[in-house]
Amino acid sequence: MMPGTCPVSSPSMAIFPIRTYPDPVLRMAARSVDAVDGEVRRLIEDMIETMYAAPGVGLAAPQIGVSLRVVVFDVGDGPHALVNPVLEEATGSWVYEEGCLSVPDRYWPIKRPAYARATGLDERGRPIMCEGDELMGRVLQHEIDHLEGTLLLSRLARRVKKDALRQLREAFLETPGPR
Ligand code: ZN
Repeated sequence: MMPGTCPVSSPSMAIFPIRTYPDPVLRMAARSVDAVDGEVRRLIEDMIETMYAAPGVGLAAPQIGVSLRVVVFDVGDGPHALVNPVLEEATGSWVYEEGCLSVPDRYWPIKRPAYARATGLDERGRPIMCEGDELMGRVLQHEIDHLEGTLLLSRLARRVKKDALRQLREAFLETPGPR
């Protein structure tokens, strides 16, 4: 992580419900942010609050129903925001038990590049670069995927994916019975 982002906090943050599979907003490509204005900063604050409340290490705007290219994350060094992120580089290979707040309580071993580097704008609209391997690299790739409408399910090995989708379908079709 490069310097350039700064912790964001405000007393007026709000926690939003997290959209879960199969909500269609999670399948949509998000729109670019035209200007990092007060409204976007407010969105970032709310996303950070929502991420911590979940709790999670990253959150993309579509996960709270806002189809904009904004992600937030905290891999242990405080909250960061990346607006209009672009994955510039992804190299190596790393298998990690990956989960997603939009597919709650499920984890799958997923192989992705170990190192990732992304550029974008911070919460003040300044160009920044974020990079890292292992968890940092994973979070960058996972959250940027969300902006393309790609869930971690798409990254599963074919055999695992078939099983995972069947499980999710069954879980989704389950309705609470009368008590
Ligand atoms: Zn996710």
